[in-house]
Amino acid sequence: MNDAFIFKLAWKLLCNKKDLWINIVKSTYNVDSFHRSAMTCKVTDSRLWKEIVRMWPKFYDHVSWAIGNGESINFWEDKWVEGLVELKSYCQNTEGIMLRKEHLIDYIDEAGNWKRSELMNLLQEEVLDKLVEMKPPDPQMEANIPIWNPGKNGDFSVRSAYLSIRDLKIEEKLVWKAIWKAKTQQRNKMLLWRLGHEKLPTRSRIASWSNMSPICQRCGNSRESNIHMIRDCARSVSIWKAFINPKERALFFCMPMQEWISWNLLRTTKFSGIPWGEQAMAQPLHPIIPRIRSLLKRDWEIELKHIPRQINKCADILAKQSLSGPLSLIKLEVPSASVVIEMAKDAMRSMCKPRDPGG
Ligand SMILES: [Zn+2]
Repeated sequence: MNDAFIFKLAWKLLCNKKDLWINIVKSTYNVDSFHRSAMTCKVTDSRLWKEIVRMWPKFYDHVSWAIGNGESINFWEDKWVEGLVELKSYCQNTEGIMLRKEHLIDYIDEAGNWKRSELMNLLQEEVLDKLVEMKPPDPQMEANIPIWNPGKNGDFSVRSAYLSIRDLKIEEKLVWKAIWKAKTQQRNKMLLWRLGHEKLPTRSRIASWSNMSPICQRCGNSRESNIHMIRDCARSVSIWKAFINPKERALFFCMPMQEWISWNLLRTTKFSGIPWGEQAMAQPLHPIIPRIRSLLKRDWEIELKHIPRQINKCADILAKQSLSGPLSLIKLEVPSASVVIEMAKDAMRSMCKPRDPGG
């Protein structure tokens, strides 16, 4: 189906005129307002609706808003400050971004002014200056007006839609190229490819054809989409934060999926000493695993025991040291001084009863 035509329908929905067909769409597909994350579909829905839902995030990336009553505009995720992208890109408190208030009205005081002092902790000064220059939303005013960024004067045209889709396709090709060229195992490439197509069997996907709840079971806060699962869930955020330079966090946590994948694959910065495009998702120890397996299979009796870290400080130190070392098998002829001390302590501890690992 012609994507520019889908964009045209999407634009009509977004403008939310009081057309009969828009009312029918709203009641058939149970949509209140047409915003970034409002659109979902089920397997049984019509092909046209599925196409609209599929194209919606790409379409919505080109939309910004002229604020009227401010209703249903997302403070952080919609584009509504002139000359700026989504405000979450400028948020300097990424802890706060997970607990953020969402609506414009949340940042307006009783007198109808912006809550400057609250926003000061969240936004860079230049951004805040731009924001407070804007007239705050007013419930008495008319509805917000969508602006089609690629169009002349913000008006939608099929030609501008066609050109923006063409640019998107060029960008998309770059992602697939980056994935297939990455020096990592095939299964990791497959994982990235499925992520790029948002095709992992997440809860929100399974919910589209079953009774399963689409809500993420780890945080209980949001729908479990692909990007939520891999990056945006509070639980995933805490892991990524251990690797991502604080200066890059705001950008890292706001890019759309495909852009995020290529950004990670193509940049030269490393994660804990490991670049994504080379080894990040690979298993650097994999030559050892088959050897361990063949040793286990020999004709002898083997007992595998779990030794808690608390009574095996040596292994703990070596594992931590390996994070900053080169990615290869290293033989240590002589233990380092710190290891020798811990070896003696471990020997002592193993004679006593091991502590409860949780203690
Ligand atoms: Zn979650």
